[in-house]
Amino acid sequence: LTRIYLDHNATTPVRPEVVQAMLPFLTGGFGNPSSPHAEGRVARRAVEEAREQVALLLEAEPRDLVFTSGATEANAQAILGRMGEGRILLSAVEHPSVLDAAAALGPEGGSWRRIPVDGHGRIRMDLLEEALGEGAALVAVMAANNEVGTLQPLGEVLRLAQERRVPVHVDAVQMPGKHTFSVAGIPSGSASLSGHKFGGPKGVGVLWVHPEHRLRPWLRGGGQERGRRAGTENVAGIVGMGEAARLCRLEAKQRQAALARAELRFLEALRRRGVGVQRHGDPDPAGRLPGTLSLRFPGHRGQDLLIALDLAGVAISLGSACSSGAAEPSRVLAAMGLPTTENLESVRISLGGGETVDELEEAAARISRCLVVKRSSDKDLGAPS
Ligand code: PMP
Repeated sequence: LTRIYLDHNATTPVRPEVVQAMLPFLTGGFGNPSSPHAEGRVARRAVEEAREQVALLLEAEPRDLVFTSGATEANAQAILGRMGEGRILLSAVEHPSVLDAAAALGPEGGSWRRIPVDGHGRIRMDLLEEALGEGAALVAVMAANNEVGTLQPLGEVLRLAQERRVPVHVDAVQMPGKHTFSVAGIPSGSASLSGHKFGGPKGVGVLWVHPEHRLRPWLRGGGQERGRRAGTENVAGIVGMGEAARLCRLEAKQRQAALARAELRFLEALRRRGVGVQRHGDPDPAGRLPGTLSLRFPGHRGQDLLIALDLAGVAISLGSACSSGAAEPSRVLAAMGLPTTENLESVRISLGGGETVDELEEAAARISRCLVVKRSSDKDLGAPS
């Protein structure tokens, strides 16, 4: 049975070019980039070249990038580094690495506050404006949601925050390879990326910090990353993310188009098989990422479907991968107002864009079979269909 991987928002396969770029730094090139000798200088050069590649992807200045152990660390630094500066406002659909970092600041309403979203998962601008009126030290709004793919109205958020001179943190983890994203329009604040979400290795990410944005360093010690993040750099990981960023920038347009095509083909393949499905998020393709499908199969528990599909050779996820394993309703879908029963009937299918027509057809066929099997076993049990 050939497996079909449809969980690219959880993580992506490491690109072969990335592996090739990393190999020298896992074998001979073991120098510490902080060392002044030749071995160290080779590593330093590699780290700085990778920084330039990531900067090109983000349209940033290389010196404004801080390499981290991933987006969880970058988000934690962005939130916790503003501790004591005032209240932090977050959209209710932020990734747990943002929401839970804020929760560490104390009870909601005091040092931080969640701003509700509408039924498509988009931040309520009226409520954000109201909250900003009371003063804030930071607004954290993700570029696109990892579960439903909804794009946030970043332009509007940035404009409103700038009027009040409030910096903005943008979790842009889901953007590379799926949608254009640049930090050029962020007047003050920070943005995070994660290498493994766009063909790079796991355990490496980046935080872009506007040169005038005040952020208290969280990891201190050796003074690496201009004193903004201590710890010997993950040289091979950084080099891998740099190569992934380079490829991502070169292929941006084709990849986005491929994702949109794959999504249409896949949905059409489901429709042709008579599979009843409800899609969450913005119905307008301009309002969401291509290839991210938050779907409800009425009458089927998402967790059961995930397990059945895994056995049938298709990898999908329940809401976000970080909380899967437990059949808890998705926090994102709940924030969008979906009732719990419907929430628990929802799964996330996220495409990579590289799927062949045959793979998409086969995935739809396997899904359809799993739903039929489930329906007939319900009948055996006398359960409502
Ligand atoms: N933010 C978003 C939107 C994500 O999807 C993820 C990954 N699930 C993260 C942050 C965390 O990234 P990492 O895996 O690099 O810690």
